[in-house]
Amino acid sequence: MSLPDAQYHRQIIGDIWTTDEPLRNLEELCDVIGSRWAGSDSEHQAGEYLKDKLESYGLQNVRLEPVPFGAWTRGHATLELTDPVAQAFSCIALPYSPAGEVEAELLDVGNGEREDIERLGDAVRGKVVIAAAETNTANTKSTKLAHRTDKLRFAVDAGATGMIFVNQNPGLLHITGGIAAPGGGPAPIVTVGTSWEHGQTILRLAKRAEGPVRVKLSTGGTFAPDNVSYNVVGEIPGSRHPEELVLAGGHYDGHDISQAALDDGAGTIVSLEAARVLAALPPEAIGRTIRIVLFCGEEVGLFGSWAYTADHADEVERTRFMLNLDGAGRGKGGSEAVNISGRPELVPWFEELAERTHYALRITDILTPHSDHFPYAIRGIPTATLNSPDDSATLVGRGWGHTEADTVDKATLRGLQMSAMATARVLLEIAGDVEFPGEIKSREDLQEQLTELELDIALKRGNRWELVGGTA
Ligand SMILES: [Zn+2]
Repeated sequence: MSLPDAQYHRQIIGDIWTTDEPLRNLEELCDVIGSRWAGSDSEHQAGEYLKDKLESYGLQNVRLEPVPFGAWTRGHATLELTDPVAQAFSCIALPYSPAGEVEAELLDVGNGEREDIERLGDAVRGKVVIAAAETNTANTKSTKLAHRTDKLRFAVDAGATGMIFVNQNPGLLHITGGIAAPGGGPAPIVTVGTSWEHGQTILRLAKRAEGPVRVKLSTGGTFAPDNVSYNVVGEIPGSRHPEELVLAGGHYDGHDISQAALDDGAGTIVSLEAARVLAALPPEAIGRTIRIVLFCGEEVGLFGSWAYTADHADEVERTRFMLNLDGAGRGKGGSEAVNISGRPELVPWFEELAERTHYALRITDILTPHSDHFPYAIRGIPTATLNSPDDSATLVGRGWGHTEADTVDKATLRGLQMSAMATARVLLEIAGDVEFPGEIKSREDLQEQLTELELDIALKRGNRWELVGGTA
C-alpha cells in the first residue's frame, strides 16, 4: 500500500538523507555556543542562532517571545564526612539549591522513592539523606518511578535537612538536575549531586562505621528573580486550515556542567531539520499551520512552555496537537518512539500512521509531567513526545544526560536524520488529516486523570491547579 501523498514523504526523506546539516548544526550549537544554561549569555546566543536558522529555512513570523523567570547561577559546593571519619568528596550543587550549609547525621534512603521514605518514617527527621538520583528499574518492583523533584519533596516532607543525589552510572560523572521550588524559587534544603563512585564510597564508609556518621554540605550559587529568556517561534502556514495549529519543538536550554548535546541539543536540531524540510515542500502539502516552538528554561522548571501556554491561552481551541521533541535525535537511529500523553483515543491513529508510512514507530501512551508537553496537556491539548532512546548504551535513567558527559560525540548523524524524518512525516500527516481525532479535553476529565496519576499534588503546590479549573 502506498501513501496518497507519497511524493511529499519522498522529498522529506531525500532531503534529509542527502545532507549532514543536522550534525553541523548540533556542533555549532554545542561546541561553539556552549551549554545554554537558562538565563546565560550562551542561552541567549542560542536563541538568536535558532531564530536565524528558522528564517533562513523560510519559516514565517519567526520571533523571540520573552519568558520572565528567576535564574540561578552556580557557586561552590562541598561534601565532607566529618565523624567518625573525616573525608571530602567532590560534588556539585543541584541547580536552585539554596546558598547555605548543613551538618547532620547521614541517612541512606536507598532509591528515595515514597515507599523508602515511608518505611524509614521518623528516622528521616533532621538528617542529611543520600539517595539514588534515578531509580534503576532493575532494582525495584515499583512501576511509578519518582522524579528527582518528587524524591526531594518526599524527603523534605519527612523532615530531611539536606540531600545528596548519587549518579547511577559509573564514570566519575556528577549528576545534576533542577530542583527549583514550585513557582521557581530556590529549593528548601541544601542539595548536591555526586558521582556513582563517590556515592558508593560514602555508603561503604557509613556501613563500616559502628555508630552514626555525620556529614557536612555547603553550596553557594545566586538567585536572580528578574531574568528573561526567550522561546524561539516560527511557522509554516497551512494551505487548507491556516487557523488550526500543530505545534512541535524541543528545549534548547541545557545544563551548565555539560554541552547538553543529547538533552536536548539533539531534539532542538531535530526540530530545526524537520522545519527545514517541511518548509521546502510545496505550500499545498501543508494542511494546518505547523508552528515550531523551541523552548528556553526547560531544565530549570519548564519556564518556556509555562510561559508559552499562558501567553497563547486564547489559541487553545485551535491548537490541534503539540509534539514535544525532548529526547529526539539520540542514539544511532531506528529506536524512534512516540509516547502519547494519556490519550488512549489517539493510539489507533498513531499505530495506523506507523503502518501507513511503513515506519516502525513504537507507540506508548503514558502521561508524564516532567517536560514541555505537560503545560499543554493540562490545558486539554493532545500532546505526545517523539524520542529515540540510545539502546546501545546499557545505562540507567538519563544515561549521559544531566552529567558532564552529555557531549556531541555521543550523537550520530544517522540518529539525528532518522528522528528528523520521523518527526517531519508525523507532522505532515497530523497537519494534513482533516479527521485527526485529537479533541480538547474537558477540565473535569483532566482533574480526574491528574488526580488518579497523583500529578495534582505538584500542581496544587505551584498554584497551577486553577489551570484545570480546580480550587487552590
Ligand atoms: Zn530535556
